[in-house]
Amino acid sequence: MTPPGQESRGEQAALDRLHARLSSSGVMASWDWDIPSGRIRGDAGFATLYSLNQEQAEQGIAAAEFFAIIHPQDQPRIRLGVGGLLRGADVFSKEFRVVLGGGRIRWVHARGRCTRDKVDRAERFIGTLVDITEQKRVEEKLRIAQSAGGIGTFEYVQGFATVSVSAHFCRLLGLQPAQELPLRTINRVLHPRDAPLIFPSSMPPVSDISQAEFRVRRPDTGEERWLMRRGETVEDTDTGELRFSGVIYDITEGKRVEEQLRRLNETLEERVAERTADRNRLWHLAADIMLMARFDGTITAVNPACVGAFGWPEEALVGRNLFDLVHPDDRASAQGEFAELEQTETLRRFENRQGTRDGTWHWISWSVTSSRDLIYAVGRDVTVEKAQAEALQLTEEQLRQSQKMEAVGQLTGGLAHDFNNLLTGITVSLELLKTRIGQGRAAEAGRYIGAAQSAASRAASLTHRLLAFARRQTLDAVPTDANTLVMGMHELIQRTVGPEIAVDIALDKDLWLTCCDPNQLENALLNLCINARDAMPSGGRLTIGTANFVADALHQKTFDFQATHYVVISVADIGTGMSPEVLTRAFDPFFTTKPIGQGTGLGLSMIYGFARQSAGQVRIDSQLGAGTSVRIFLPRYSGHVAVSAPSSASAVAYHSGQERTVLVVDDEVSVRMMVVEVLSELGYEVLEAADGAAALKILEPDGQIDLLISDVGLPGTHNGRQVADAARVRRADLPVLFITGYDQSAAVTGSSLESGMHVLPKPFGIADLVAKVGSIMARQ
Ligand code: ADP
Ligand code: MG
Repeated sequence: MTPPGQESRGEQAALDRLHARLSSSGVMASWDWDIPSGRIRGDAGFATLYSLNQEQAEQGIAAAEFFAIIHPQDQPRIRLGVGGLLRGADVFSKEFRVVLGGGRIRWVHARGRCTRDKVDRAERFIGTLVDITEQKRVEEKLRIAQSAGGIGTFEYVQGFATVSVSAHFCRLLGLQPAQELPLRTINRVLHPRDAPLIFPSSMPPVSDISQAEFRVRRPDTGEERWLMRRGETVEDTDTGELRFSGVIYDITEGKRVEEQLRRLNETLEERVAERTADRNRLWHLAADIMLMARFDGTITAVNPACVGAFGWPEEALVGRNLFDLVHPDDRASAQGEFAELEQTETLRRFENRQGTRDGTWHWISWSVTSSRDLIYAVGRDVTVEKAQAEALQLTEEQLRQSQKMEAVGQLTGGLAHDFNNLLTGITVSLELLKTRIGQGRAAEAGRYIGAAQSAASRAASLTHRLLAFARRQTLDAVPTDANTLVMGMHELIQRTVGPEIAVDIALDKDLWLTCCDPNQLENALLNLCINARDAMPSGGRLTIGTANFVADALHQKTFDFQATHYVVISVADIGTGMSPEVLTRAFDPFFTTKPIGQGTGLGLSMIYGFARQSAGQVRIDSQLGAGTSVRIFLPRYSGHVAVSAPSSASAVAYHSGQERTVLVVDDEVSVRMMVVEVLSELGYEVLEAADGAAALKILEPDGQIDLLISDVGLPGTHNGRQVADAARVRRADLPVLFITGYDQSAAVTGSSLESGMHVLPKPFGIADLVAKVGSIMARQ
């Protein structure tokens, strides 16, 4: 066979030829578009391009015809470009394909400029078309050469059985390098299902570049590769021969990536489908209530669990308003949650009572979120949990109280004996008094009266102690001298632990003051002593100590001390000690190693709670067989006033109530009378009321009072706390003193006690009352 044109050999030759053609390409045509008339005329090239005869060329063509020769794929882009020009752009510069006679395609570069009239309307659009087909081919080849692992070139002349190829062409097919390859040889390495790489019989039409992807099985490696073939049929102007020439290059890598993407896409779909299925299963099988609703509360979907929980069939629930099913008391807040959700679209949790078909209310704990215009709610029926929690709280409260009573019981046992002694002292004194008076020896009466009085006051102080322990609630945190407190407890403790155990007291005489509820501290101390006694069943030694303590940085870190200065109250024993396991659990509520009936496991837990509440800490040091020491750290009080626990009259400076008015409210006549009398004697103006309503009447017409003293439990509509609140509406900082038996004190004590409100527990003596009122008025 005759080899094709010699410059077609090898890649370099092909590129050179293209360059040559490119340099010869010049202006194809120029046009002049008269915009007001809409006619477009041009030069000879323009007439050839549009196949116009003389007359047509003179008349010019219309815009529709102008665009007609542009390749359909490029038309929209070019029309837009021209449109932009007419609307104000100045320069037009675009590359596009034109389809010539016989379907031949050329790439052109159009450059134009628009001129405008005085009022800035587009007037003329003049431009030229330059043929850039060759340039485009070179660009394309360079692009391919850069992107693929080299290109192979080929040229085939119609009718021949061999193809002229480049060395790289052979390499890409896995064949020995050659300049000519039989079509058979080429077709043999192709995948049987792919069309022949080079057209053996019919040539592709002379037109745009044709391209096809092929698979080859390389005979050298047996490997399968993907190739791209791009080629073009050209008619040789001299000989009339049809030549098909072009390039091949490897696209296996691109195919692989494409395949991966396709698979990823497929599995993605699979995964989405799976997830949807999961979600459906969840919806159907979940034990949780799930529903969707609109923001106005209209239910749009419910799951089977929801049907089960509410009792109505799905048809009855969908379309119904969710809020109709909410307990009237919870409705407003539920609507508020929905409104909030509409604003923020975050997850919200709340609980409310939902009505069910059988007419009962169920507590549902909801997690709700929204997306666009729908609310998604997942709920759990917590009715049973709620009831259990309430029951537990009640039981805990009861246990706490019983633990307290247990301690009281421990005390009473020790005190009963003393009490009998004291009562005997009183009865005997009274009998002797009676006898002496009968004998006419009245002058000696004073001795017996004195003896009876002293026994009675000791008995009173003992009952006071007892009742202080029995009191359910906490009192004010006040500046407290722990030394005084410990000394005051000494006798009681000794009696409680029994004669087998020696009680040593080791006090720091320069002890700082601390601020805490003295009754709770007494209770804590007593509990520690009872624990120590239980740890020394056959007797031993118990040491109660007080000390000042300064925490350094290390202490603060390891023991979680917030402050630096503390007062320490410690109770140490030489008993059984605790194993590490017991030690770690000792503070746990209800943890006890004692037999049922003996321990509640609440002693240390309450001590811990008290210490933490008072901004302090508790530490236990204990070793099995080596005894135990418990230290309570309470923050130092740096004020100056020392107010000792339950006061004695001598400690109180008498004060004058001149020009001060006190309102006393108590339904118990004897108590009211006593308080009124004592305060009147001090010079106060005293008003009295037997119940809340009467008290409010006195307060009504702008009753100017300086102090309100009130019982907490009062008959009628208002209790003491409500009277105080009403009085404080008139004067916000009005000092209030509640006098109360332990049962009602919960209403006014603990953390809810506002500043300026105080408590004096009943029973109290005259001195207690005077001291308390004095200290309150001193702060005014
Ligand atoms: P309870 O005294 O009712 O058992 P506590 O909370 O007071 O409850 O104490 C919990 C447990 O800690 C006790 O049961 C005991 O095992 C241990 N424990 C407390 N104090 C001491 C101590 N001083 N010596 C030995 N073990 C103690
Ligand atoms: Mg205990």
